[in-house]
Amino acid sequence: MKRVGVIGGGQLAWMMGDAAQRLGVELVVQTPHSSDPAVSISADNIFAPVNDANATAELAKKSDVITFENEFVDIQALSNLAQQGVCFRPKLEALAPLLDKYHQRCYLRDLGLPVPRFVALDLLAEDDTTLSQLGFPVVLKTRRHGYDGQGTFIIKDKETLKQKLESDITKIVESQVSFLLEEFIPFERELAVIAVRSVDGKVVTYPVVETQQEEQVCRRVLASADISLEVALEIENIARTLLNSLEAVGVFGIELFLNSDGKVLINEVAPRTHNSGHFSIDACETSQFEQHLRAVCGMQLGNTAMICPGAVMVNLLGYEISSSDYMTKRQQIEQIPQARVHWYGKTESRPGRKLGHVTVLLDTHNRDQAMAIARNIESIWYPN
Ligand code: ADP
Repeated sequence: MKRVGVIGGGQLAWMMGDAAQRLGVELVVQTPHSSDPAVSISADNIFAPVNDANATAELAKKSDVITFENEFVDIQALSNLAQQGVCFRPKLEALAPLLDKYHQRCYLRDLGLPVPRFVALDLLAEDDTTLSQLGFPVVLKTRRHGYDGQGTFIIKDKETLKQKLESDITKIVESQVSFLLEEFIPFERELAVIAVRSVDGKVVTYPVVETQQEEQVCRRVLASADISLEVALEIENIARTLLNSLEAVGVFGIELFLNSDGKVLINEVAPRTHNSGHFSIDACETSQFEQHLRAVCGMQLGNTAMICPGAVMVNLLGYEISSSDYMTKRQQIEQIPQARVHWYGKTESRPGRKLGHVTVLLDTHNRDQAMAIARNIESIWYPN
C-alpha cells in the first residue's frame, strides 16, 4: 500500500504529510479548495467536496487505499465503490454507526459502554415526559455534521429549549436537521484517548489526556492526564472494546467525561485522527498521523509512549476576521523553551477557527506548570 487517498484536506490531512514522507507513502487528497492546508503535501489533488462520491471514484483510481480526515461523507454512495473493490480503511461499516450522534450513542450503549442518558428529539412528538427524564440544564445536539461545538447547545431551562426549537424550526424542516437531547454531565474533567487498530486486529492506545474546552471548542490538552490507574485502564478497555467491535483499522479519537465520583462516560467518538492527539507529533515515539498511515497501509504499529514526562498542547484559534499570518506572535511563542509551533497555513482567520497549535514538552508531570505555560501562550496569542 503505497498511495493513500485521503478524503478531506484540512490540517489533519496536512499533518500526515511528514509521516507519509518518512514512511515512503504518497498522499492523494480530495478536498474542495485549492487553499486547503493539505493541498501542499499531496502529490495529486482532486478538488471536490468530501461528500462527492464521483470525485472519490477518481481518487480511488489514484490510490491503493482510501482513508478519511473528514467523516462527513456520503456512505451510501461510497458503498457502491466498496462493492466494486475499492479499499476503505477504516471500512465504511466502521464509520456508519458513528456519523449520526444518536446512532453513535445507541451503538455505544448497545455495546455496554457508558454514555450519558439520551433521547432522539422528534420535534413533532416532543413532550414533557422526555424532558423530565433528563432534567435541566440539558444538552441539545444536532445529530449530524457537528464539530468544534457547532450544533451543541447547553440549554438552561424549558423556556429556552422551546425558544431554541421554535427559532430553528423553519431551518430544521427545510434541511431536515434532527436533534439529540442528552443529560448535562457536571463533569470534573474532560479526557480523551487516541486508539489505533491494525489490519491484523492489534489495538494500541496513547496515554489518556485531559482536554479543556471553552464554549465547546478545545482550547488545550494536557498530556498525560492526572488520573488513577483504574480510570486509565477503564478507558483503555473502552477503546479496545469499541475498536474491536467496529473492526476498525486506523486511528480513532475518543472523548470522555470524568465525573467527580470517578465514573467515566463517553462523549464522542471520531473515526479519524483527532485534535486531542496533536501532542503526539512532538511528545510521542510515534505520532497519531504516522500511526494512522501505518495502520491503513497494513504496516506494524509504532510505539505510543511519550518521550518526555509531560506535554501541553494549546490550540491557536482565530479571534478576528483577518488574512494575517500572525508571524510576530508565532515567533514570540517559539521563544518558549521546548515549544513547537505548527501553523496550518490557512489564508483566512475567523473567530474560533483552528489556525495552528503549539506543543511544549515538559520535564515534569506537573499540571500547574502545564497550565502556567498554556496561560502564557494564550496571553501572547489572544489580544486582551
Ligand atoms: P462537537 O461534536 O461539536 O465537538 P461535542 O458533543 O463533543 O461537540 O461537545 C463539545 C463540548 O460541549 C464538550 O467537549 C463538552 O465540553 C460540552 N458538552 C457536550 N455534551 C455535554 C454534556 N452532555 N454535558 C456537559 N457538557 C457537554
